[in-house]
Amino acid sequence: MTNTTEILKEVMKEGRKSLLEPEAKAICRDYGIPVTDFRVAVDENTAVDYAGEIGYPVVLKIVSPEIIHKSDIGGVVIDLKDAKEVLNAYRQIMKNVKKHNPNAKTVGLLVQEMAPQSTEVIVGATKDPQFGPTLMFGLGGIFVEILKDVAFRIAPVTENEAREMITEVKAFPLLKGYRGKPPADIDAIVSILLNTSTLIMEHQTIKELDLNPVMVYEKGAKTVDARIILE
Ligand code: ADP
Ligand code: MG
Repeated sequence: MTNTTEILKEVMKEGRKSLLEPEAKAICRDYGIPVTDFRVAVDENTAVDYAGEIGYPVVLKIVSPEIIHKSDIGGVVIDLKDAKEVLNAYRQIMKNVKKHNPNAKTVGLLVQEMAPQSTEVIVGATKDPQFGPTLMFGLGGIFVEILKDVAFRIAPVTENEAREMITEVKAFPLLKGYRGKPPADIDAIVSILLNTSTLIMEHQTIKELDLNPVMVYEKGAKTVDARIILE
């Protein structure tokens, strides 16, 4: 049995519909989708140990089945540069979570590699009632949320279709490089689209998938947040 099948089985056994970020990222990794290195810590000293192992700077995030939008409640702190900052952020996040929902079940805190800022893209998937698994691509921030500048294809997608999805969004010139900004690694995005397509075809219990954002570099790309919802 693959890692992905095991994770999905466990989530269903627990009666959950929404995967925790570490679960979603483990599945991404299983399908060759690059994600930030991560560990789940259950106390603050372990969080500091993990931060040292991953290497500073790190990011801390709440891991709770009841918290889907982590930053909305102060559940994400980025760019922590040393042990003291990790301890402070750990305590602050736990405080924010308690204030938001005193009964929230907390699995732990996700300690992860801080991905350098870059052009952000979004890869999404939904299950269309008529066409089945469908893939979405857009650039992060206002491009998807406000301008609805997105491309869709029915899965499975071919490499050509994946390339078309990227080139057909209006914001594509931003990926090609401008004003001395180097071009983004388009092949890295194509590969993420193809691997996501395979994942949603092979696991049709996935109702929604959201890689938001994926940082794209001159060479390579990295998913910093992943959400998966099951039927
Ligand atoms: P939310 O559940 O609120 O969507 P995210 O995990 O997406 O939480 O974190 C919020 C924002 O923090 C992201 O959109 C991204 O800009 C930044 N961020 C999160 N994780 C990382 C990381 N590992 N490296 C760099 N930036 C990050
Ligand atoms: Mg996010």
